[in-house]
Amino acid sequence: MVDYAKICQKCGATCCKVGGTDFNEEEKKAVLNAGHEDYFVKIEEEHYELRTENGVCPYLINENSCEIYEHRPKLCRRWPVYTYIRNNIRETSLIMCPISSYLQEEDINSMKELADNISLTFIADSIEKSKIQNLNTYASIKCNAFNKIQLGYKCKLDKT
Ligand code: SF4
Ligand code: SF4
Repeated sequence: MVDYAKICQKCGATCCKVGGTDFNEEEKKAVLNAGHEDYFVKIEEEHYELRTENGVCPYLINENSCEIYEHRPKLCRRWPVYTYIRNNIRETSLIMCPISSYLQEEDINSMKELADNISLTFIADSIEKSKIQNLNTYASIKCNAFNKIQLGYKCKLDKT
């Protein structure tokens, strides 16, 4: 059985260091009700981002572990599957990071299901905060950011 947590730790939790993540109201409440520190900043109705330092998620703790793993939001749970728009149709793709080639089809399918449950408005709001208007550009920028800070692998975009 593949130890996904170990792969992510070895990768250095790269995807948790490129701008943080976003939460809806329910996801924010779950984190606060579990007693975790409040880093939330409201950016839209029922939409929160996190205060970060240099883009590192504040819930990333020792040895690149997620402090709120049980309560991490859908945006984190669906990664490395991301949403983009092609010919006005919503699609999902897999970002090729160290874990991608180990994921089983059922893992990818459940990540796709999660990704499909995130509204485009929510994703667009997340992107707008970074002043990036286009989902496809956003995925490429994320990949480029990985490639700048991670020397162990080359991120590329791949269709699921
Ligand atoms: S970039 Fe991929 S391998 Fe690295 S921490 Fe994120 S999900 Fe794990
Ligand atoms: S909430 Fe956890 S999984 Fe999501 S970006 Fe932060 S540390 Fe990473």
